[in-house]
Amino acid sequence: MSSRTLDKMTGVGRGLLQSLGQLTYQPDGPLTRDLVRTPGSFGLGQVPERLRPDAVTDMVCGFCATGCSLRVHLKEGRGVNLTPTTDYPVNLGMACPKGWEALNVLDATDRATTPLLRNDDGQLEPVSWHTALETFCERFKEIGAKHGPQSVAFLSTGQMVSEEMALLGALAKFGMGMLHGDGNTRQCMATAVTAYKESFGFDAPPYTYQDFEESDVIVLVGSNLSVAHPIMWERVCRNPNSPHIVVVDPRRTETAMAATTHLAIQPKSDLTLFYALAHILIREGWIDREFIQASTTGFEEFALFVQPYTPERAAEASGNPVETIEQVARLIHEGRRVSFWWTMGVNQNYEGVRIAQSLINLALMTGNIGRPGTGANSITGQCNAMGSRMWSNTTGLFAGRDFANAEHRFEVAEALDIPVERIPTENSWPYHKIMDGIRSGEIKGLWIVCTNTAHSWIHQSETRELLSQLDFLVVQDMYHTTETAQLADLVLPAAGWGEKEGTFINSERRYGVVKRVRRPPGESLPDFSIFRLVAEYWGCGDMFAEWTSPEAAFEILKRLSQGRPCDITGIDDYAALDHAGGAQWPCTEPVATVVQQRRLFEDGQFYHADGRAKFRWEESRAMPEPPDAEYPFLLLTGRGTASQWHTQTRTGKSAVLKKLYPERLHVEIHPEDARELRVESHARVVIRSRRGEVVATAFVTPTVARGQLFLPMHYEATNQLTLPHFDPYSHQPSYKDCAVSIEPIQE
Ligand code: SF4
Repeated sequence: MSSRTLDKMTGVGRGLLQSLGQLTYQPDGPLTRDLVRTPGSFGLGQVPERLRPDAVTDMVCGFCATGCSLRVHLKEGRGVNLTPTTDYPVNLGMACPKGWEALNVLDATDRATTPLLRNDDGQLEPVSWHTALETFCERFKEIGAKHGPQSVAFLSTGQMVSEEMALLGALAKFGMGMLHGDGNTRQCMATAVTAYKESFGFDAPPYTYQDFEESDVIVLVGSNLSVAHPIMWERVCRNPNSPHIVVVDPRRTETAMAATTHLAIQPKSDLTLFYALAHILIREGWIDREFIQASTTGFEEFALFVQPYTPERAAEASGNPVETIEQVARLIHEGRRVSFWWTMGVNQNYEGVRIAQSLINLALMTGNIGRPGTGANSITGQCNAMGSRMWSNTTGLFAGRDFANAEHRFEVAEALDIPVERIPTENSWPYHKIMDGIRSGEIKGLWIVCTNTAHSWIHQSETRELLSQLDFLVVQDMYHTTETAQLADLVLPAAGWGEKEGTFINSERRYGVVKRVRRPPGESLPDFSIFRLVAEYWGCGDMFAEWTSPEAAFEILKRLSQGRPCDITGIDDYAALDHAGGAQWPCTEPVATVVQQRRLFEDGQFYHADGRAKFRWEESRAMPEPPDAEYPFLLLTGRGTASQWHTQTRTGKSAVLKKLYPERLHVEIHPEDARELRVESHARVVIRSRRGEVVATAFVTPTVARGQLFLPMHYEATNQLTLPHFDPYSHQPSYKDCAVSIEPIQE
């Protein structure tokens, strides 16, 4: 390290570096395991003192947004086993297979244990943290100086703890001067965010999980709940009201099979169907006039708009009889507590925002909001997707604020005690614009944190090509083997869930604590520590002097939340949160005193300036790439099994989980289509789209309709076929509609 860099470092930074192996005095020396483990070092993997050597401790699961609590059993201070926590208000003693295996996936042999730098021969080779951090800063600064601050961007995640997301967002934008950064939540939750903001005035999922047990009509749209969110499905199964369960999904999923009504709609006919339901409810006078008048705006115009959306039109578009559509409208009318739930079938859709809002409209017009068992409820995906929405500081400023709003910038500057000029005055490019920026040459450097872009982004072959075009690609991840890490110029090894501290926010807005019960392997570090080190090496460490630990950062988040709808100033600290069994936002009273199951809008007041929710609508648009003579099938994608998680970087490491799902990519095809094409179950087939071709094993099943195929999203081949198109408002990719062909391989 140059003496100039050292001079510029804060006291905290010097201490941090010294704890990282006396780097200030041995600039070129290797960072050894022993040095990293120096007692008292900063966030480097010691088990917190408050955990006794042999004890149990509860923490929130690190896979999905259900946010179950897992009881980790410690031996000599190390987490060795776990069981679901029995008295946590989310999971009530239950866990899905992923949760049970959460500790075991940490032991994988391909964990990134040292920084890796690509050498002149094109190989990734181990380097010291010092070299890695100096290279990181030199290269990004070089690119920024040559091409401007917009030429370096970051991609974040819904998998880190909130405190890490916030530190990354603050560091990248206020410290390093980046303009553009987005998260992988663009792929899952952006649609719900935009829909809620427009309709309610704030990104505010209104429900609590208790609502699953209190509804008498549950409408699930584009959600295979029993597979994607098995513990939420268990909550449905506990419902004592024998609820009507209506599933709207083109596939006869496991959840659809268990439903009382399955509307197997033609893909992308959702909007027409939900407008027709609104049409019937208005036609019959099955609406809550009092609520509409007191708490909403735009209803009269909406009622005019849906007049042409007759049940007959919806029947033709969706492929369901008029009687069934009328019957579902009657169910909604007769239900005392009707809840509408959606997930990726809606969000990952080129008209997803309007579909989500068509469900919000149904809840508003029937007064099914703010009461037990009701709501227009988006279910999130990743363990901290909600945290990303509040705290990533990517396309929106902290705590649901807006970069373009001067007052918001001033509030944040004051809360962080930084000059307001450090805060960009415009919102970042969303994910797909960042990818476009690489294509056009405007983005030259990219820092990807805790996400596997080369696998999960839509139209994968082009994505990999784009990542390869970058002048400098840094990947920060637990594993050095991900498809994205393999393309990196520099890999920074990160600790995973169970190896660091912080908070997650689950789907029902509940903060829960994550704890350190394992030491990160090798020289890997918690992301929080990596960001602090980057700040020091970049020369902006003094800006983050208060961010000494995740719990110190939590105090900053509290301050940033003050007076916002997501205010959490009532949560004293992690211990109080832990003791209370988590806490939903808002939480302005002492956490021990707040009610555990709270829903929003009980007073009929929303977050728009006039206190009212807005009806939003728009004409449906045609699918951009419908099946044709050359590509006669429509490809649907989605979650495969409850044992698989996203790109399988973690679940693929568990011997137990791997036994619970097919090893190879399989494609679901209807028996009639299979017969016509002479495809037999277990035969190898090739599937082609205009963007690529993949080989899969056929699974002949009537769960898909004729003319449709289904591929699970977890295999890297799937996104070689998908069509890059996006919702125009949320910019979320539409993964579930593109034209393909299929033919057997003659073997
Ligand atoms: Fe973890 Fe989600 Fe499974 Fe619960 S349902 S154990 S949060 S993966």
